[in-house]
This record gives sequence, structure tokens and C-alpha cells, in this order.
Amino acid sequence: MLLTLIKKRKEADDAYSFIFEPSESIMWRAGQYMFYTLPNDNPDNRGATRYFTISSSPFEKNVMITTRIDKPGSSTFKKSLTEMKIGETIQASGPDGDFIISDPNRNYVFIAGGIGITPFRSILLDLYHRKLPINVQLMYANRDKNIVFKDELESLISKNPNFKIQYFINPTHIDEKAFLTFNSQLSTLNFYISGPSPFVRSIRDLLKEQGALSENIKLDFFPGYES
Ligand SMILES: Cc1cc2nc3c(=O)[nH]c(=O)nc-3n(C[C@H](O)[C@H](O)[C@H](O)COP(=O)(O)OP(=O)(O)OC[C@H]3O[C@@H](n4cnc5c(N)ncnc54)[C@H](O)[C@@H]3O)c2cc1C
Repeated sequence: MLLTLIKKRKEADDAYSFIFEPSESIMWRAGQYMFYTLPNDNPDNRGATRYFTISSSPFEKNVMITTRIDKPGSSTFKKSLTEMKIGETIQASGPDGDFIISDPNRNYVFIAGGIGITPFRSILLDLYHRKLPINVQLMYANRDKNIVFKDELESLISKNPNFKIQYFINPTHIDEKAFLTFNSQLSTLNFYISGPSPFVRSIRDLLKEQGALSENIKLDFFPGYES
């Protein structure tokens, strides 16, 4: 399907959202992603296609991509995305993915590494919109205080007593001490980890060492941020 760019928004520092209107009605579950093709006359070795989470919630109807643009070192894909003008189109297929919440009555720990916050924005706003419980502790690691979706996420706290956010701003990292508060609950909580692949792997390993069960851990790997 074709997606038409209707809005660009700076979220924080080098993070931007691109909001697209789909050419046909599209249904997705909060937390899913799409596969995008954006032709470039001279693409680099990473090519002209990418996966991105739909950072908008289904009730918002439009498809939002939120990503970091590393201006000097940006891939040709992200240069093309940045240069898109309102009214231009991008090809997309999907949605797909199982990084979704099936039972909101369970207790969740969401762990985001930087831009890995995208599926959590979609899921949290969806739960709120559908008046479902938000039994979520969000552990949000970021390299600095430029926190993507900070205001939107914090606005949910006062209305949802079981929703909490804990920030880990460099040089503070998520380590074994961060999980001490979960104590005996570690084997029953549902952990969702999203972000750059090395971050996701290291938090998964840490959680397993601390006693979390593999079947209670869901992972959303964002490749491409390793270098
Ligand atoms: C299911 C899924 C969902 C995803 N959701 C998101 C999302 O919501 N938001 C998001 O930002 N990403 C998401 N990603 C990751 C996304 O697909 C890209 O891989 C990622 O954003 C990096 O983009 P990029 O390759 O354009 O590199 P850039 O972001 O442009 O650059 C990242 C780093 O790689 C270096 N680099 C750039 N180009 C090259 C090159 N040609 N060769 C060597 N190094 C290079 C840069 O200098 C920089 O250090 C998702 C991935 C998957 C699989």
C-alpha cells in the first residue's frame, strides 16, 4: 500500500516522527511494525527498505514512524525519509509482528532502550484509549535527557495508578540492582524489551540471570544501530 506523508514532527534532539495517511484502511495491533520501501537513486549498502514499528496507536488511524536521524552519518534511506515533502508517498507492507499485549490484566515490565520506546507508545496509548488497565512499570534507558514521548507518557501516570516510569539516563544504566525491587515477582512478571539489538540482548541475559523465565520475556530487536 502507499502511505502519504502528512506531517513531520521533531520529538526530541535527533528523533523525528513522520506521519502518513494510508491509501486504504489499515488494521494493526498496537506494537506491530511495517516494512517500507523508499527508492533512492544511489542507495548505500543498507539499501532502500527498512522495518519500522508503527509508533501510533490504531485509534490514531494514521501510520507514524519515529526514528533517530544521525545527520552526518545517516544512511541514504534516512536521508530520503528526511527529505520527503508533505504529499509524497512511501511504499509499505504489513502490518506484522507479535510484540503485542494479549492480556492487559497481567503485570508487565516494559524496558526501552532509546528509540525502542516506539512500540510502547503505541501499546500504552492504546490501552488508555480502550479504557483497559495499564499494569506497567516502564524502565526507560536513554543516553541523555532528550527523552522521546516524555510528556505523552507522563500524562498517563496521573490517570493510571498502576503505571510507573523509571528513567535510566547515561551514565546510569539498567543493571542487576534495577531489578532488585521485583524480588520474588521476577518469575511471574511479563518483560517486554525493545531497542537496539545489543541493548535487547544484554537486558534479556541480565533478566534471565536474575530469575526471569524465557517464556515471560518478549523481544523487539532494532538492528542497524550497532555501529
Ligand atoms: C521490527 C523492527 C522494528 C523497528 N522499529 C524501529 C523504530 O520504530 N524506530 C527506529 O528508529 N528503528 C526501528 N527499527 C530499526 C530500523 O529498521 C533501522 O535498522 C534503524 O533505524 C537504523 O537505520 P539505518 O540503517 O537507516 O541507519 P541510521 O539510523 O542512519 O544510522 C545508524 C548508525 O549506522 C551508521 N550507518 C548508517 N549508514 C551506514 C552504512 N551504510 N554502513 C555502515 N554504517 C552506517 C550511522 O553512522 C549510525 O551510527 C526497527 C527494526 C525492526 C526489525
